[in-house]
Amino acid sequence: MAKRVMLIGAGGVAGVAAAKMCRNPETFGELLIASRTEARCQAIKADIEARPWFAEKGISTKITTAQIDAMDVPRLTALIKEYKPDLVMNIALPYQDLAIMDACLAAGVSYLDTANYEPPEEAHFEYSWQWAYREKFEKAGLTAILGCGFDPGVTQVFSAYAQKHYFDTIETLDILDCNGGDHGYPFATNFNPEINIREVAAKGSYWVNEKCKMENGECSVDEHGVAVEYKKAYDKGYWVETAPMAIKREYVFDQVGKKDMYLLHHEELESLGCNLKGIKRIRFFMTFGQSYLTHLKCLENCGLTRIDPIDFKGQKIVPIEFLRALLPDPASLGPRTKGKTNIGCIFHGEKAGKPVDYYVYQVCDHQECYAEVGSQAISYTTGVPAMIGAKMFLEGKWVKPGVHTCEEFDPDPFMDALNAQGLPWQETFTPVAVP
Ligand code: NDP
Repeated sequence: MAKRVMLIGAGGVAGVAAAKMCRNPETFGELLIASRTEARCQAIKADIEARPWFAEKGISTKITTAQIDAMDVPRLTALIKEYKPDLVMNIALPYQDLAIMDACLAAGVSYLDTANYEPPEEAHFEYSWQWAYREKFEKAGLTAILGCGFDPGVTQVFSAYAQKHYFDTIETLDILDCNGGDHGYPFATNFNPEINIREVAAKGSYWVNEKCKMENGECSVDEHGVAVEYKKAYDKGYWVETAPMAIKREYVFDQVGKKDMYLLHHEELESLGCNLKGIKRIRFFMTFGQSYLTHLKCLENCGLTRIDPIDFKGQKIVPIEFLRALLPDPASLGPRTKGKTNIGCIFHGEKAGKPVDYYVYQVCDHQECYAEVGSQAISYTTGVPAMIGAKMFLEGKWVKPGVHTCEEFDPDPFMDALNAQGLPWQETFTPVAVP
């Protein structure tokens, strides 16, 4: 039976998730798009309703819109209680995660998001704040699905799938995120600029199960020959921290070609460190072009990526928020972006005492996404998994009271849905390993 969903946020990713929900009207009968600026919700509704596929099955999703500041928990709770959704999807920004989780608990509705909580004044990228809600959601009998985009999200579903079908133990995992697309601007980010720049400007780090041992204390240089510092990870294992962009590799990506990629910290490493059996090391690499990195360095050197408030003509401004106002809106990149993305996971481990290598990845074409839903592939590869996560929950396949990341659910129906919903994946047992 078709269900009712409340979607918070009206940016690039929310637009795709809403469009894909309407392409699945058997599951998504009614949709409320609520965000800080209602005009953007109305624009998404108008765009979807004008698409040729809308109503093609004769049972179109009923879309309504509302204005809401998600940080206003009492007002948000009242709106949830009034609309009575089966699920609240947070596709606004990570700053709103805890406020929306509080409102969901108060209204008795389950929750899904695409990025882990971030306090505005510090860049942390860790689950601790949201994991602290585990007991509350469990006791309330509500499900919270965290980080259900592509990375985090599908990368964890890929990991659960590899663990379930191909490995007894996984020793190493490398997550490779390649964007071979070109939007023609000298500098623009493919999703929210503030979140994107915070992520890229942060120290690099990867996860290991134990510290590298030396005779006289800890290693200060790791296996890559890079200076490192160890920090205890939240639950299990260690973060090995490097200077930003200190580890660079070249990789040849299927359907994209040769790219430079850099080791970054990424949130799913923390939960995968807890949930993959036998895991010893997890790394995350993302591709960047030289022009992007040169612009970023220059902005950083000028102080424009700072997240702390400064005084400007008697007013407090946060430089990165000011920068965001100057940069192109990611939702506007759709018509300009050409090329493909390729995101996947390379695993090494053992099955029945024999070594196994496995690479599962997804290739997505920016222009094909634009033709279908009017967006570039970064919003598409995030919005489609968010819709699939909601579909899994509403169909009873991913229902588990508590607060969970995507590798904690059955990957099989999600993997089938990726193939059916526009993100078909490929696999090989002879991948080229990342040194
Ligand atoms: P955008 O900046 O394009 O959109 C964010 C939306 O959230 C805007 O509509 C904005 O409103 C709204 N918003 C912000 N603050 C509030 C608030 N207090 N109350 C209500 N609405 C608010 O972001 P994206 O669409 O690019 O990204 C959405 C989310 O997806 C982010 O959390 C991002 O980190 C995540 N993401 C996850 C990925 C993954 O693979 N897991 C990949 C890419 C993104 P307004 O229009 O008024 O500004």
